[in-house]
Amino acid sequence: MAHAVKELFPEAQFAFGPPVDQGFYYDIDVDRAFTPEDLEKIENKMKEIVSQDNPFIREEPSVEQALTLFREKKESYKTEQIERLGEPPSIYREGGFVDLCRGPHLPSTGYIKYFKLMSISASYWLGDENNASLQRIYGISFPKKSQLEDYLLKIEEAKKRDHRRLGKDLDLFTINDEIGPGLILWHPKGAFVRHKIEEYWRHEHLASGYEFVNTPHIARKNLWNTSGHLDFFSENMYAPMDIDENPYLIKPMNCPFHLLIFKSRTRSYRDLPIRWAELGTVYRYEKSGVLHGLMRVRGFTQDDAHIFCRPDQLDQEISRVIDFSLNMLKGFGFSEYDIFLSTRPEKYVGIIENWDKATQSLKTGLAHSKVEYQIDPGEGVFYGPKIDIKIKDSLGRSWQCTTIQVDFNEPERFDLGYVGQDGEKHQPIMIHRALLGSLERFFGVMIEHYAGAFPLWLAPIQVSVIPITSSQHEYAQKVHERLVTAGIRSSMDDRSEKVGYKIREGETSKIPYMLILGEREVNENNVSVRKRREGDLGKKTLEQFIDHIKLEEADKK
Ligand code: ZN
Repeated sequence: MAHAVKELFPEAQFAFGPPVDQGFYYDIDVDRAFTPEDLEKIENKMKEIVSQDNPFIREEPSVEQALTLFREKKESYKTEQIERLGEPPSIYREGGFVDLCRGPHLPSTGYIKYFKLMSISASYWLGDENNASLQRIYGISFPKKSQLEDYLLKIEEAKKRDHRRLGKDLDLFTINDEIGPGLILWHPKGAFVRHKIEEYWRHEHLASGYEFVNTPHIARKNLWNTSGHLDFFSENMYAPMDIDENPYLIKPMNCPFHLLIFKSRTRSYRDLPIRWAELGTVYRYEKSGVLHGLMRVRGFTQDDAHIFCRPDQLDQEISRVIDFSLNMLKGFGFSEYDIFLSTRPEKYVGIIENWDKATQSLKTGLAHSKVEYQIDPGEGVFYGPKIDIKIKDSLGRSWQCTTIQVDFNEPERFDLGYVGQDGEKHQPIMIHRALLGSLERFFGVMIEHYAGAFPLWLAPIQVSVIPITSSQHEYAQKVHERLVTAGIRSSMDDRSEKVGYKIREGETSKIPYMLILGEREVNENNVSVRKRREGDLGKKTLEQFIDHIKLEEADKK
């Protein structure tokens, strides 16, 4: 692609062009903005280069030779990078084009089969907005035509499911510039789904031995010194505000508050484990460029919890959290996932013996829960190892949700202790865990997973009652009232529109059931049932329909 761009735009300079999870990109410095027509031209030029079947030739020049080569080509980003590397780089030549690259490459351009340039976006040299602005072209490539076609179909489907678009169409949430980027307004229908998510979450937590706590949104600056957040998390925190001449900070995490509740009284070994959960709203600074709908925001509510336990309880607690998490995710319709165990990073606090013990506990917990997992070496948090669960949505995309982290650092910083059986003071182990992650992000994933068609138990409106003409209004009103009394979320559509129009609108609003009421239904005292995606289900008595809904709702379908 870079070769093709260079042929069409000889002045273009190249920054970085790595492979990514889905395809590849290149950051390019050119005088004018690329257009979709340019992408087409570049693609055609790429096809030409592919048909030439030019070999890729690797060379390893000295730093000086490489600098001379790229200076001659006026590739200033490349020379900067060679200087930064400070060691002999590798370069690749291909049919008159030369690029700095670690490699490896295919033997020749002829090996490249099916590809497409997907999009253009803005970027900055070294990702820093104070540096030169660049244009990033994304592309994808596959060895088989069917793979490319499948991929493009999936992209189309993902666009249709984009939660930002559905959020607007279904009136679920908005982001308002007058408030600021990354801050979510939950509209009544979105807030209703959130209410159902929270209700289920609370119920499951109580049933699983958790207690709830609530904590403030701000705290004295000193608390964040004690917790260490000002040392290791300050770039994500907002500037302090003064209250009575004391600096206060908005919380980026809930942990210090839970630690202080623990410390508020003497704890005995018999009190442990303590499991405290909070739907805690936190604020974190994120660069505006990385904000994305509900998925990456600046204010969000974590479904947070902290477990304080004795060393001999750690294995069992980890296993409980894993099972609990997988069960709850299943309740929301996610039964496919990947699990990762992240081990000790290069920079860490605490002693290796503790790290090894905690990592072993995570492994034992995973084994106990009989789940498969992969190890992510060195990817743990500096205060302890962790387990991440990434769920797969209906398009097979992965989303990070659950995180379970063992922490020795905070209990030490806050000098936490409990009285052991021996009458001595011992330090508890702390587990941080969020199962859904953040409610904002989880809602975004749910919208895309279900394409906005929430299962009956979550749907803001479950049934739309549609009289065919005004003569059935009275009957329809009775049906609607009976549904409401039965605890069903019914909406009466008595507008003077054609019935076909109302049904189409019910479908685009993704309402699970519609009851169509004409003269026949009035005379036979029953209802005609239409189900989302399935169409006409025939006639039922109203009470039969109510039973049917209740069963489906209880099954969380
Ligand atoms: Zn925490």
